[in-house]
Amino acid sequence: MAHFPSPASAGNLCFCAACGSRQPAMSRRQFLCTGAASAVAAPALAAAESVPALAQQAPATGAGSASGGAGRPLLIKGGLVLTLDRALGDFEEADVLVEGATISAVRPNISAANAEIIDASNTIVMPGLVDTHRHMWQGILRNVLPDGSLEDYRNVVQRTFGAKYTPEDVYVGDLFSALGAIDTGVTCILDWSHIHNTPDHTDAAIKGLAESGVRAVFAYGNPQNETGRYWEMRGHKYPDDIARLRKQYFSSDDQLLTLAMAAPSAAPELILQSFKAARDVAARITIHVGVGEFGRNALLEKLDAEKALRSDTTYIHCCTLNDTEWKLIRDTGATISIASYVETLMGHGDPPIQKAIDHGIRPSLSVDVETSVPNDFFQQMRTVFSLQKKEVWARRLAGDKNPPKFLTVREVLEFATIEGARANGLERKIGTLTPGKQADVILLRTDRLNVMPMNNAVGAVVTSMGPHNVDTVLIAGKVMKRNGELTGVDFARLTRLGNEARERLFANAKVPSSRV
Ligand SMILES: [Zn+2]
Repeated sequence: MAHFPSPASAGNLCFCAACGSRQPAMSRRQFLCTGAASAVAAPALAAAESVPALAQQAPATGAGSASGGAGRPLLIKGGLVLTLDRALGDFEEADVLVEGATISAVRPNISAANAEIIDASNTIVMPGLVDTHRHMWQGILRNVLPDGSLEDYRNVVQRTFGAKYTPEDVYVGDLFSALGAIDTGVTCILDWSHIHNTPDHTDAAIKGLAESGVRAVFAYGNPQNETGRYWEMRGHKYPDDIARLRKQYFSSDDQLLTLAMAAPSAAPELILQSFKAARDVAARITIHVGVGEFGRNALLEKLDAEKALRSDTTYIHCCTLNDTEWKLIRDTGATISIASYVETLMGHGDPPIQKAIDHGIRPSLSVDVETSVPNDFFQQMRTVFSLQKKEVWARRLAGDKNPPKFLTVREVLEFATIEGARANGLERKIGTLTPGKQADVILLRTDRLNVMPMNNAVGAVVTSMGPHNVDTVLIAGKVMKRNGELTGVDFARLTRLGNEARERLFANAKVPSSRV
């Protein structure tokens, strides 16, 4: 078993409770100088003065060591700015001023004499992408199951590998998945973490996320064993250990890492137990529902009979829910996450994009499993876009005189940003480039052969761009990627960690480690 220094004991490093970044918080004087944004930014200041809840270690990879944060302001200058804030609109050319962790202004021709300039010419400047469901512990099992079904996934990934994961494997998996997310423009991600075979596994997952510098919702889930019946296991503390997590790591929500409960795919009594443990510590809930034949069990009707459905829950997949269940989601004000690529690959059922829209629900998007799905979030946007259009065209061709409207690329981009923020419980902090929100910003290169010359910015992002267009990434005002390279990441160390974890895991799981 690997052991990591307790984050609680590593608590005297500089750490901003307002944003979770590893710098001192913005001073009151600096804050008062930010002008236009002062009214909206005030709550962030108050939070910055509170005691940090999640003490972080200095990152061994050095991720995010470049400028930004609470030093000099950053002025992102001369980009094509998509704020995705409907009140603010977009700008053919504008600047974004970042002070500390916060966006303090978005408009053309900002001058800030003491600011460090990030040249944004030939880029689209927009909010970071938001993933609402990824099993990040599987970051060392990428592409292990490209041809597999859902049943294969349960047998191979969960019951064969998951049952044998060590805490060190969890740490490396989470670290890889998180750095991969940042690299592809995802600045906020929900880690749907169901690998908590012991509390050491839990601490290791949180350590990997914290070290990466990503903004994450850590969704605490069940352990894995060979039978899939986790409730028969010994040594795990699910779900009650969430009380320790709230106290030890997440006593404030004003930090980069926030807490949720990943409720199991199990009998309603076990799900209700999880829901209660979550709500006892005011954590949001995320749960897979409507998955394949198994998902036709009217689970939400059963949970509703127990008065367990509230707005604090995100329902994942929802492919085979009945209409009553859809109405329950809508009426309780809950959110959903569609992982359309995996749903088409592995037998979950048709991605319910139009179904959600018919019920007035705007979906968020998710990668789900890197064992079968690329970590490229642009792929998720394109998949929902093409599948919704396919469905509408099919209805028109079949003679439907009143078919639904086609999705637009702008709607899809909102699914990938502000709707993700909403499902992750962070819409007041991220999801648009609005002064007062946290500076989670990406710069996408437009002077590349896949998109030049630039004719339609939103169209370019959704239909043509990919991770190779991601030039610069800021999370809470900290520069995590610049000029197309992650900042301060020790790739030699990562390579060693990844290969060691892979060899150890395949040996422990008695799986031949051949790569061909
Ligand atoms: Zn999933």
